[in-house]
This record gives sequence, structure tokens and C-alpha cells, in this order.
Amino acid sequence: MTAQRPRPTAADHAQAAAEHAQLRPCPRCGAQTLVARTPDRVAALDVRADPAPLDPAAEILARLAGRLTWCLARGEHTGDRIRWRGTEHIAGGRCTHTVIADHRCPPQPIQETLL
Ligand SMILES: [Zn+2]
Ligand SMILES: [Zn+2]
Repeated sequence: MTAQRPRPTAADHAQAAAEHAQLRPCPRCGAQTLVARTPDRVAALDVRADPAPLDPAAEILARLAGRLTWCLARGEHTGDRIRWRGTEHIAGGRCTHTVIADHRCPPQPIQETLL
């Protein structure tokens, strides 16, 4: 195919940059988290996930705990992206992505003054 792509605009570049997964500290607990905008849903979602990869058992535990899990798609040219992990995608058995889960801040230690 030789169809010419339209020239990317500044807005396209900003959109692409927002989709790259980047390590950023969580503003609440300071933990290192992966943040990216995922373009897979009707409305783009801003995801903040723990960077630690999950094995299937850990993913089940995370989902039971009410956390969403995501595919981390690594791309040499496109950067890493966080992709929506739908049930068909999981059931399809072809997923070779790293699996990560939504970040949850750890419970803050309760500050008590012992008298
Ligand atoms: Zn996947
Ligand atoms: Zn946090």
C-alpha cells in the first residue's frame, strides 16, 4: 500500500506521548508507578499501575481484590503502552504481554499517640 498518511499534527504528537507508559511516583504514597493513557476504550483512560509484572495466580488475586489488570505492550519504536485487557483477549490465549495491575496505595499507618 502506498497511501500517504496525513501529516501528524502537534496534537497527534501530544496524544502519542501521553500513551507512552512512563514511571512516575504516585502523588499520594510516593511508590513508583507506571502511568499512561490507554486509547483502547471509547473514552481514553488514564491508567496508574504498579510496574511489577503479575503471574496468572497473582492476576487472579488482583482481580478478586477489585483491581483492573492491564497488558503492558512493549514497542521498540512506539514506546511501551498500557492496553485494555478484555476477557476475550485473556481467553484468546494469545496474549504474550506483561500483565500489570492498577496501583492501589498501601494503607497509611494510623498515627496514634500513645499516652
Ligand atoms: Zn495482552
Ligand atoms: Zn499510591
